[in-house]
Amino acid sequence: MTTETDGKSNETHFIPGQPVEYVNPELTELEQAKPGRTVNLKFGFGPIPSNASNKTIFFFDIDNCLYPRSTRILEMMHDKIHEYFKNNLNLNDEDASKLHTDYYRTYGLALEGLVRNHQVDALDYNSKVDDALDLHAVLRYDKVLRETLLKVKKLGKFDYFWLITNAYKNHALRVISFLGIGDLFEGLTFCDYSKYPIICKPMRQYFDNVFQLTQLDCTDEAVLRKQWYIDDSELNVKAAFDLGVGHVILYIENEQDMANLKKHTDYKKYFAGNGRRIELLNNFSSLPDLVGP
Ligand SMILES: [Mg+2]
Repeated sequence: MTTETDGKSNETHFIPGQPVEYVNPELTELEQAKPGRTVNLKFGFGPIPSNASNKTIFFFDIDNCLYPRSTRILEMMHDKIHEYFKNNLNLNDEDASKLHTDYYRTYGLALEGLVRNHQVDALDYNSKVDDALDLHAVLRYDKVLRETLLKVKKLGKFDYFWLITNAYKNHALRVISFLGIGDLFEGLTFCDYSKYPIICKPMRQYFDNVFQLTQLDCTDEAVLRKQWYIDDSELNVKAAFDLGVGHVILYIENEQDMANLKKHTDYKKYFAGNGRRIELLNNFSSLPDLVGP
């Protein structure tokens, strides 16, 4: 066990490249006993050993990708952010909504606007927004998801499974433990809210950091072409595709979202061209078929 909690800030400390084990204190003993409830990341938050360079890695986004939107976690998160704007900036409902939307449009992350313009402590924000979400109430042990990921693993095409998220590490670890998939990944790259400026997807620096931590030589086209990545964000998958990642998948579960996507002027370029393109997946259980034999 290489992680510890200092009790005061509930911050998990870690040693670069060392395994990370996380036991979710919110789970009952019975819940904890199921496979995948304890998180075990062999290479922790990276870097992976330098003698394991240029492997074939499947990168997975977490939120709204490994669990469905019907959990309404996105809406729960919006409510918490709204409360945070109201309480910390002393705003009424209307002004809080306006500013939240404004920052989201300008910076891509509401948090970025808070840190930049109001000197908000990003880790305080994280403790009151992401870490305060009642995930236990909405995220069930997902046997079907677990079997789907195991099927993909058994295809034998991948050296490692790696999580990449715009959330902070606490949220990521909680989510995968609730879902019961904490033993299926070698590592995790998170958005480090303790650093400024905040580097998140779809920024180039975020992906560069991921490639560095997973020992992928991103100057070598052939290395990037053999990597796999799935995310529910159109912006993120386009960014990875533009960087040269070979197998990029947009997870899009909602039919209306799919219809809207098809109206975009760059739809053909990214999703329907001959040759290399972003694949679309509307049912996560079909992932093994998409990856192929
Ligand atoms: Mg997502």
